[in-house]
Amino acid sequence: MRHVAIIGSGPAGYYTAEACQKTFGDAVRIDIIDRLPVPFGLIRSGVAPDHQSIKHVSRRYEAVALTDNVRFVGNVTIGDQVSIDELLDLYDAVVLATGAPADRPLDIPGAELPGVVGSAAFVGWYNGHPDHEALAPALDGPGAVVIGNGNVALDVARILAKTEAELAGSDIVAHALDGLRRHAINRVTILGRRGPHQIAMTPKELGELGQLERAAPRVDRADFPPVEADDALDPGQRKSVTLLREFAAHPAAKPIEIVFDFFARPLAIEGDGRVERVVVERTELDAEGRAQGTGDTYAVPAGLVVSCIGYRTSPIPGVPYDTRAGRFANDEGRIAPGLYAVGWARRGPTGTIGTNRPDGFLIAEHLAEDLPDDSGKTGRAGLDALLSARGVDVVTFRDWQLIDKAEIGRARAGAPREKFTSIETLLSARGEQ
Ligand code: NAP
Repeated sequence: MRHVAIIGSGPAGYYTAEACQKTFGDAVRIDIIDRLPVPFGLIRSGVAPDHQSIKHVSRRYEAVALTDNVRFVGNVTIGDQVSIDELLDLYDAVVLATGAPADRPLDIPGAELPGVVGSAAFVGWYNGHPDHEALAPALDGPGAVVIGNGNVALDVARILAKTEAELAGSDIVAHALDGLRRHAINRVTILGRRGPHQIAMTPKELGELGQLERAAPRVDRADFPPVEADDALDPGQRKSVTLLREFAAHPAAKPIEIVFDFFARPLAIEGDGRVERVVVERTELDAEGRAQGTGDTYAVPAGLVVSCIGYRTSPIPGVPYDTRAGRFANDEGRIAPGLYAVGWARRGPTGTIGTNRPDGFLIAEHLAEDLPDDSGKTGRAGLDALLSARGVDVVTFRDWQLIDKAEIGRARAGAPREKFTSIETLLSARGEQ
């Protein structure tokens, strides 16, 4: 028997469990440990609430979770309640699937001003992540600035722009819907330090901006190279750039403008006690395609700034960390004997949910090469004894199903699905029938 502990119950964790099941069949026992009392990681707290079809992938993870050789162990923080060394004593392999929950820092003056938030916090706030339920972002000014040209920037701009009716059927949490319902924002400026050809946005997500009820994208035609230059782009990127060209050619007048400000690098954030403006420098691309400042600066008024410039894995005591890359130091997923990383914790915050599937198989292959058939380790029995001795209140998958049922049950007809946002409420909901 092989005993495997996977830390983190998001896509990387469940795809790794699935790959281990396929590789080892009945000869493996897997514990998926999460610090939250709820599973599925970014599927619950990162994927945009109005992208419900993407969230349906959790049904596949549920099928894995309900098999006999996989167990969910929620409400347990590794590095705090249990150390990595203790886990390595109990299990043949410990796989870190902890994702990249921290914002890459926006390293400019004024980034600490009230009103400036990172996308992990902002997205976590509207998705009901317990760490961010108290965020209370500033939504009372007419201007919002979103920094970055990736899909997260698009998610944030779209959620700010959608009407309450457009959010019906989503699982946006009540506190976010309340705040957004009353917001005074009429201009969302998306700052990209490079140009339309360098965006990291995908066509489906970009296209949604052209379909909004009360908001319309605005793009400056002068930002594009000649149309022939699009031929050199890969098909997906060409589609995205074509959409941007259409936005530029057919500007629509709607109450909220979503302004794509390309070749615009944030230099500083200013304001008296809270953010009032972002100072931006015009850029141009150098021979390597990097943004270089031109010295030409201007200010974009903003009461809210959301920095969507990527994420970092949170370090765990005792685990080697690559500070520059913002993830665990690893060689194709191997960190140290018995210790592995998978998903964003292995390769950094890029790729789609599906990218984690081959990642999971890579780790399962490593385990097949590295682990003995039967080391005699105690696995889950040892963990249970340790947690019980420490008085840890473990949440099981069955408990999660009760929480899920309670959330769904509380939803009023036609209203957004209720989602519990604090650890206390989640824990008490597992008792509700
Ligand atoms: P991302 O795709 O890496 O985009 C980050 C953006 O931030 C880039 O445009 C980057 O510009 C910019 N940036 C980085 N540092 C900056 C700085 N100091 N100042 C200004 N701009 C800066 O990251 P993401 O949007 O967080 O997305 C993470 C991953 O999740 C991606 O793979 C994404 O596709 C995926 N995702 C997918 C969906 C979906 O499919 N619906 C939704 C959300 C997220 P440069 O290019 O110039 O570095």
